[in-house]
Amino acid sequence: MVVGFHRRTYAKIDLNAIKHNISVEKEKMDSNQKLFAVVKANAYGHGIVEVAKVAHEVGVEGYCVAIIDEALALRQADLNELILVLGVTPFEYAPLMAENDISTAVGDIDFLKNAQKLLEQRKLRLSIHLALDTGMGRIGFRNQEELQAAVDFINQYSNQFNFEGIFTHFATADSKKRDAVDYYDKQLKKFKNLETCLKTLPRYVHVANSAASIWHKECGGNTVRFGISMYGLNPSGRELDSPDFKLAFSLMSEIVAIKEINKGDSIGYGKTYTAKDSEWIATVPIGYADGWSRKMQGFKVLINGFFCEIVGRVCMDQIMVRVPQEYKVGTAVTLIGKDSNKKITPQEVADQMNTIHYEVLCLISERVPRIY
Ligand SMILES: *Cc1c(COP(=O)(O)O)cnc(C)c1O
Repeated sequence: MVVGFHRRTYAKIDLNAIKHNISVEKEKMDSNQKLFAVVKANAYGHGIVEVAKVAHEVGVEGYCVAIIDEALALRQADLNELILVLGVTPFEYAPLMAENDISTAVGDIDFLKNAQKLLEQRKLRLSIHLALDTGMGRIGFRNQEELQAAVDFINQYSNQFNFEGIFTHFATADSKKRDAVDYYDKQLKKFKNLETCLKTLPRYVHVANSAASIWHKECGGNTVRFGISMYGLNPSGRELDSPDFKLAFSLMSEIVAIKEINKGDSIGYGKTYTAKDSEWIATVPIGYADGWSRKMQGFKVLINGFFCEIVGRVCMDQIMVRVPQEYKVGTAVTLIGKDSNKKITPQEVADQMNTIHYEVLCLISERVPRIY
């Protein structure tokens, strides 16, 4: 991966905001509850190692990632708390995970059967969190028979498996619409029902993501998987009020070229924008290769406290914006974040892209350096 350190486009990450958000969440949790910091996908674009380190400073029980490589990156950074891979892992990597003390989600018995042989040969023991599919339809055991068979297998091979956790994931915890709440209730009921299969509960029972921890405290479990709100975002987008979390992410650049164009002059590929008058047009070095989508045409950026429209097509590496007057090359441009008393939020960018703010931040590519 080539990172653009010699271009003045960067994501500014406020690690104190992340600390603040973890503290706010911990205060709201019950005293017996623990927190896993969800740092998958490069910590939602914020930088996995840096975020995990501040989470460690505030004090977290562990980390959740999506894939093994993310877990290995944390171990290489000398983070020694529990790490759980939430996704499905190929059984061939069971020894690799065991050697690195990485826990894994398991949602089918074939993984256990295949992994058991490899672990036995290598005299290794792997920590398992059983995934229960209570309605997300993604991964996990779906009924008591399947779950019972997995638990029996784990107990039978306790030299190879440490039964460490059990969890499920809600599909609709981020909405109070009638349908969503009904479905959430159904999932919770199903989880409680599956849980009764277990004579003793494992150390970690975790059902809550950010949304469930905010709006469904009654969902229980002894551990929260805290993701999007750690980064300061409201899991519901705009629908529900969330606590006072602070946004950690800003996206910055600067003007690298400026010119006055005449009435009738056009801008960009396909000449989709034509000036109605003489206008000042600035060029800013960020484009769709940086995750600033072509859908951002017609959106705005902040320069000197003014909203300025993105005109013409978004290029791979550059955009053009209409500015009210001549600005100096080197003038700061805010794409996400605050400038004087105005701001552009990830939610507004998501609205423009017809998606959710989670995706907006994940899409900012690794070419954009993260500055802390
Ligand atoms: C991504 C993920 C989370 C975190 O969800 P947020 O909405 O970001 O809090 C929690 N659990 C699972 C299984 C996930 O995949």
